[in-house]
Amino acid sequence: MAQSHISFEVSFVEPQAHYAEVSMLLKGNNQPQIDVKMPVWAPGSYLVREFAKNVEGFKAVDEKGQALAFQKVNKNTWRIQNPKKSDIRISYRVYAFEISVRTSFVDASHAFLSPTGIFMYPVGQLAKSSTVTIKPFASWSKVSTGLSPVKAGAFTYTAPNFDILFDSPIEVGNQDVFEFTAAGVRHEVAMYGGGNYNAEKLKVDMAKMVEQATAVFGENPNKYYVFIVHNYASGGGGLEHLNSTVLGHPRGQYASENGYKSFLSLVAHEYFHLWNVKRLRPVALGPFNYDAENYTSNLWIAEGFTAYYDNLFVRRAGFYSPDQYLGMLASGLSTVANQPGSLEQSAHEASFDAWIKQYRPNENSRNSSISYYDKGSIIAMLMDLEILQATSGQKKLDDVMNTMYYQYYYKLARGYTDAEFKDMAGKIAGKSMETFYNDYVYGTKKPDYNAFLKAVGYQLVDDNASKNEPYLGISASTRIGKFLITSVARNSPAWRDGLNVNDELLSINDEKVSGTMAELDKAIAAKALGDKLKIGIIRDGLPMTIDLSLDRNPAVRYRFVSVDKPSKEQLLLRAKWLAL
Ligand SMILES: [Zn+2]
Repeated sequence: MAQSHISFEVSFVEPQAHYAEVSMLLKGNNQPQIDVKMPVWAPGSYLVREFAKNVEGFKAVDEKGQALAFQKVNKNTWRIQNPKKSDIRISYRVYAFEISVRTSFVDASHAFLSPTGIFMYPVGQLAKSSTVTIKPFASWSKVSTGLSPVKAGAFTYTAPNFDILFDSPIEVGNQDVFEFTAAGVRHEVAMYGGGNYNAEKLKVDMAKMVEQATAVFGENPNKYYVFIVHNYASGGGGLEHLNSTVLGHPRGQYASENGYKSFLSLVAHEYFHLWNVKRLRPVALGPFNYDAENYTSNLWIAEGFTAYYDNLFVRRAGFYSPDQYLGMLASGLSTVANQPGSLEQSAHEASFDAWIKQYRPNENSRNSSISYYDKGSIIAMLMDLEILQATSGQKKLDDVMNTMYYQYYYKLARGYTDAEFKDMAGKIAGKSMETFYNDYVYGTKKPDYNAFLKAVGYQLVDDNASKNEPYLGISASTRIGKFLITSVARNSPAWRDGLNVNDELLSINDEKVSGTMAELDKAIAAKALGDKLKIGIIRDGLPMTIDLSLDRNPAVRYRFVSVDKPSKEQLLLRAKWLAL
């Protein structure tokens, strides 16, 4: 019997109708029955996306081309009968028309193959190697992927196992490709969609992001790394992989200073992930179960810490001035403080419930939950400051990440547990992190920021502290000609006195309300704290009046200010923190 081997071929017959044709050859089979599956999620994006929903035209034939009987046994599993134990050729089409960094998209101009939604796997054979041949459509001439080519110039690649295949997105088309070398690694940038970028400038500046991230760990584990960049009219985001990433950036946002720096921050974010989460990982995130949710309470580290480091690398490389950087940090602190859910959901819970909450927001999400990106990034800042202070600037958060990487990725070759990360942070800080964790990771305590910032001689000032703005606590927008409430903030007058999402706003104290949020804000601003209002609404077709009284707007607007005459120690720690 021939040696067992799996090979895929992906071609495009009708790209304009958004289809990829997949053929999968299973050689050397000795099973009379085989199950093949399509993953239900894409690692890095914690939501069950049911990729099997895009599969059509599934067929299986034996080595003579005779049809083999098969049956769908659940949402993403096909069971093939193979009584003669023949080689099996499976074919199917995948409909690909969802633009995002974690979903496949095919049209007449290009194909982006997000592998967990394209390639099926034989059950029990995730450890097997495979080859993938891409047959670009008519005028397409390029393939960009982190997979290793079998030989240069041909579009056949090898994947040592399915984890690597599923971790290697593929861009096919006529993308603009350029390369640079940084940290001893060759980097390919594959730009789809055009844009006002300057490739020569990007080569230099993206290299700086690579160098900054590599400096934290002291080594770069890749030989080759690919940035697949999708430039659309709007939108953005990124998804991390072992030796590649997919980025989305608005095509017109390279020439403005803010747009350019935010692209560099995105590059830094996804690049840092090649260590943090792809190699240094929570224990639940690998080997993956492609069939269901993979629960971890550590996404506040995997994503939040990465979100802390992205802008910090842009700062360390000198693109953001210290003041610009502190301005962004302060706005991140305001965002979390102004979201009522930050006092309801811990970073630990937000991570665990990512699958049902982070990617499935509803009208009440701001009241009940907080992003593990936003909260995790603040925890990273607090931990960085705590370590700087406890060690008089001898250590910082970098040392935790570096030591964890060598201990768990290299030495133990496994993921870390919650307790192991906490213990390492404590070891680097030279003090117990129990209270820190109980307050900010497991708990929802509002940090005393000034106690942390004292080490670096800063204070957090709330520019809204002296304001007494009256506040209703709703958002509203016009839909099909009606001015409807879209959210009600927890503990606001609207919450307390019973305005509801979907109520149509008609009047305040019998004066007609016009249909914009700006007009509504103006009407409320003209009132005083404690004023009693009669709000006329229509709820479910019935006119009603709600009586309520206005509170003070609790929103904060934070800003960092230096203390008067910072001490030598404060200035030293500040310089270490902000790379001055
Ligand atoms: Zn991320």
